[in-house]
Amino acid sequence: MKAKDIGIAKPGSSKANKTGSWRIESRPKFLQKDCIACNMCLLICPEGCITGKEKNGYICDYAYCKGCGNCAVICPKDDIDMIREE
Ligand code: SF4
Ligand code: SF4
Repeated sequence: MKAKDIGIAKPGSSKANKTGSWRIESRPKFLQKDCIACNMCLLICPEGCITGKEKNGYICDYAYCKGCGNCAVICPKDDIDMIREE
């Protein structure tokens, strides 16, 4: 049996699936105050929706962010807050 037969999405397919609609409680807020451009948030994001290169220049695309909170947990500078979805 193949993954497609049982409804499992292939890795990296979030761009096609607009996973931002899965978000129900909270979203990350990039504070852009103490960011050291370590790239940890970008690397851990399961949706690949974080972009940035410069210190205090990281953002995510809320159309694809599913609110898992991984980025906020891993940020060594506590520069990402999870805030309530409005
Ligand atoms: S909460 Fe952070 S790690 Fe999770 S999907 Fe959104 S941007 Fe990516
Ligand atoms: S994990 Fe935090 S410090 Fe590192 S790039 Fe992301 S926002 Fe910046």
